[in-house]
Amino acid sequence: MIYAQEIYKSFGNLAVLKGVNLTVAKSEVVAIIGSSGSGKSTLLRCLNHLEQIDCGNIMIENEWMVKNNNINQAVYQPEREIKRICTKMGMVFQHFNLFPHMTVLQNIIEAPMIVKKMKRDEIVPLARELLSKVGLLNKEDVYPSQLSGGQKQRVAIARALAMQPDIMLFDEPTSALDPELTGEVLKTMHQLAEDKMTMVIVTHEMGFAREVADTVLFMDKGIIVESGPAKSLFDNPQNQRTQEFLSSMF
Ligand code: ADP
Ligand code: MG
Repeated sequence: MIYAQEIYKSFGNLAVLKGVNLTVAKSEVVAIIGSSGSGKSTLLRCLNHLEQIDCGNIMIENEWMVKNNNINQAVYQPEREIKRICTKMGMVFQHFNLFPHMTVLQNIIEAPMIVKKMKRDEIVPLARELLSKVGLLNKEDVYPSQLSGGQKQRVAIARALAMQPDIMLFDEPTSALDPELTGEVLKTMHQLAEDKMTMVIVTHEMGFAREVADTVLFMDKGIIVESGPAKSLFDNPQNQRTQEFLSSMF
């Protein structure tokens, strides 16, 4: 589903991604862990073209989005193609990013209507189905300001799912939540994993990553230092930096 090869990305003089490789199979759940500033968000943002890479290759569902030329510069497909490829991926952010002036239902149906040109009567039933899935069917006419953080994040998940993506990217979806609201969001994500959604999740929730992820990547200073099956990475980390990071977390 995702094949990213030797990704490099700098902001000015700051090298943030220094040769990252990532492969995600269909229905695989990949968790990315690592300290703040290690490049996790930048990696996710490069995958769905919120940032442009400097060098490297990215293939999404067997289509090249960006590929190096013969002097190792990343060359992107035309914008229209990129947009089409990126609609295969939904993203959920730490700070929800809901539209404050729209109701819950409007938040969910907006992008499918505008981007996918779906008709209102086609998308509303799907939106309600998704709201029911995230446990918020009775909130469709409410504005985001009337929701708790956990409810907002579940709306954000439903909104991303309304585009019917094949891949979901999550960037610390529970980091802005009070601990008692984290569980309801993790439960929704757990459910998605059981439904075989392909997911890449940046998270500090180590228990969740251990339980739900198939593969865990530990990122440090722009490099994936260690990766492996969740249980072996947590129980038996090989790299010293992974060991230090994990012992700081528990
Ligand atoms: P993480 O998500 O692992 O905390 P980030 O990918 O957000 O790390 O950031 C990695 C580094 O890149 C940080 O030093 C951050 O300040 C820097 N950075 C991220 N985005 C930008 C940007 N748009 N412009 C300049 N620097 C950035
Ligand atoms: Mg981040």
